[in-house]
Amino acid sequence: MKQAVDIILCRPDDRRSCCACCGVFNLRDISRESVSAFLGNGAPRLHGVPAAYSGELSSRPRDEFTHLCPFQGFTGGGSLPGCLVHPSVAGEDGRERSLYGAEICEAFFCPAHFLLDARAKRMLLAHVVDWYRYSIAIVDPLGFAWMLGEVRKAAGDGAGDWAAAITMALETHAEFLNDLDGPVFEYSESEYLLNYHRFSPGSGSPSTEKHRRTIRERISGLLA
Ligand code: SF4
Ligand code: SF4
Repeated sequence: MKQAVDIILCRPDDRRSCCACCGVFNLRDISRESVSAFLGNGAPRLHGVPAAYSGELSSRPRDEFTHLCPFQGFTGGGSLPGCLVHPSVAGEDGRERSLYGAEICEAFFCPAHFLLDARAKRMLLAHVVDWYRYSIAIVDPLGFAWMLGEVRKAAGDGAGDWAAAITMALETHAEFLNDLDGPVFEYSESEYLLNYHRFSPGSGSPSTEKHRRTIRERISGLLA
């Protein structure tokens, strides 16, 4: 049964969406270029062109036990990540072809839905339009909440350009995540909270201290 969520982040409007839970952030290379290339190959995969999939999977995934669904790709006129076999895209529900099946695909909500409060979700929607940065915020929700706190502190009483500061923080974090080995997307709150010390500035962990300092300094440089 679905847990109640206030704001659904998967595709909140026609400007942005996410498909991190479909596995694309399990690629070892999660740079914008790599993720875009994988999603851009969605149509050939959909039509069962084996080379379109096996070539992409030749590099090791971050987590051998996490599925990379072949049916994720660019939807919405080619600009938004999503499910190519979703009924709203394909005209009929093809998600039974996937490992998870339609029922699980439909019912799943990632940790961001439960770890971000309504205010943080509204800030995400207000300031992050680009789909890649939007996905990074969803992959690491408490990292994003920490960034919001840093922007708020640096802005003080002044308004400042919050969108530019958040953009810079998310871009910096995307590079940091890409440099790390191992999984960066977790499917449950408990797994996320068990592992986020590895990758999230929101964890306050020693291993992310230098990264926190870098983001903090860059935010201050923009908003001071
Ligand atoms: S990762 Fe979260 S926001 Fe993104 S599609 Fe999955 S459930 Fe929705
Ligand atoms: S079938 Fe399910 S896992 Fe695959 S892309 Fe669609 S929603 Fe994601």
